[in-house]
Amino acid sequence: MFPDITKLRKDFPILDQSVNGKPLIYLDNAATSQRPLQVIDRMNEFSLKINGNIHRATHFLANKTTEAFECARGTLRTFLNASESSEVIFTHGTTESINLVAHSFGEAFINAGDEVVVSEMEHHANIVPWQIICNRKGATLKVLRFTDQGVLDLAELDQLLTHKTKILAVTQVSNTLGTVNPIQKIITKAHEKNIPVLIDGAQGAAHFRIDVQELDCDFYALSGHKMYGPTGIGVLYGKRKWLDRMPPFLSGGEMIDRVTFGNTTFNEIPYKFEAGTPHYTGAIGLAAAIEYLNNQDISILEKYEHELLAEATMRLKQIDGLTIYGEAPEKSGVISFNIEGIHPFDLGTLLDQLGIAVRTGRLCADPVMDHYGVENMVRASFAFYNTFKEIETFYKALIRLKTMF
Ligand code: PMP
Repeated sequence: MFPDITKLRKDFPILDQSVNGKPLIYLDNAATSQRPLQVIDRMNEFSLKINGNIHRATHFLANKTTEAFECARGTLRTFLNASESSEVIFTHGTTESINLVAHSFGEAFINAGDEVVVSEMEHHANIVPWQIICNRKGATLKVLRFTDQGVLDLAELDQLLTHKTKILAVTQVSNTLGTVNPIQKIITKAHEKNIPVLIDGAQGAAHFRIDVQELDCDFYALSGHKMYGPTGIGVLYGKRKWLDRMPPFLSGGEMIDRVTFGNTTFNEIPYKFEAGTPHYTGAIGLAAAIEYLNNQDISILEKYEHELLAEATMRLKQIDGLTIYGEAPEKSGVISFNIEGIHPFDLGTLLDQLGIAVRTGRLCADPVMDHYGVENMVRASFAFYNTFKEIETFYKALIRLKTMF
C-alpha cells in the first residue's frame, strides 16, 4: 500500500510551483530536501515569540529557548536511540561532525605510523578531514574499494583492518552510487579488531530507522537539511567513552567550565563540543522535521521510495547510450548517469528549462568519478514526495533531449 502522496505534498508548498513555465519536478533531494510547513511554522513561531540566547540565563525568553533546545536534543536522542542526550552534539552538519571527530579523535588517538580506513565511495566530507589529520600526524589513509557494480569489497576490508587501524569511516548510503552499505556487518567486523567506526549518515538518516545502540557504531553524523529540516544544523552522535576522552574541537564560550589566563577547564559533554551560540533555531526546526517523520510510517515511505527508484531505473535503462553508475542490489533513491554525446552540464541546464531539477558535476566524490573514468555525472535523487508521473515526465524529457542532440 502506497502512502497518500497528494496529501503529503500539501505539506511541501514549494513543490507546487512552475519553473520556466513548467511544473517543478524536484529530483535533487540528495543535495537538499524540501521542508514541510510543520518545520517552517515551528521555526517561525519560535522566532516570533521565543528567541533568547541559551543557557545560564535568568530571563523568560532565554529559559524558554534553552528548554526548547534541550528538548530538541532529546528528540534527536530518541530518534537515534542514543543511550543518553549528552551523546548528541549539535553541529552545523555532517561536514562539521566528521571534522570534529577527525580533529579531536585524531588529536587524541592517531599517531605516526597509524592508519585510518575510508571507502572509495565517500563524499569529500568523509575523506579530506581524515587526509588532513593523517598528514599532520604522519599516519596513512587506506582505501576500501568498491566494485564496478558499486558494492564495497568486504573481503578486502578484512585485509585492510589491522592493529595499525585507529578508525574506520564509511558512509551508510553513497550520495553518487546510491549504494546502501551493510554497515551493521562492517561495524561488527571492525569491532572484532577493536576498531571504532564512524558512519556518515548524511544520506541515510532521512530514509532508514537508525538505532545507534543496535548498530553499536562509535560515531554517527547527519545533516538536518537532507532530512526535511533546516540548513546549518546537524548532529554528531558519539559514544561517551570516546567523547569524554577527546579534546575540544572549537573553543570559546559555552564549552568551558572555568577560564583564567593561566588555564581553562572544559565543560561536560555535549557542551564541550558546542562552542559559541549554537544554531538553536535550526535545532528546533530539525526536531520538528523528526517529529514530522515520526508521524509517517517510515517503512512504507521507504518502500515507496524504493518503487520510485525501481521505476526510474527501468525507464532510464530503456534509453540508448545511457550509462547508470552504481547498480548495487541494495540501493537508495539515487541514480547517477551519463548519456553518450551529451555533456552533463548541458543536460542539467536543458532539464531545468523543462522544470526538472537534477544535479550535475563531480558530486563531491572525485574518487567515484575517477573509478569510472568520467569527469562529471548527472544525478537524479528521490524523496517520498516525488511521484511516478514525475518520473515519466523525466524519462520523456531525457528522450526528447537525446533526440535533439
Ligand atoms: N556525506 C554525504 C554522503 C553527503 O551526501 C553529504 C552532502 N552531500 C555530506 C557528507 C556533507 O553534508 P553537509 O554538506 O550537509 O555537511
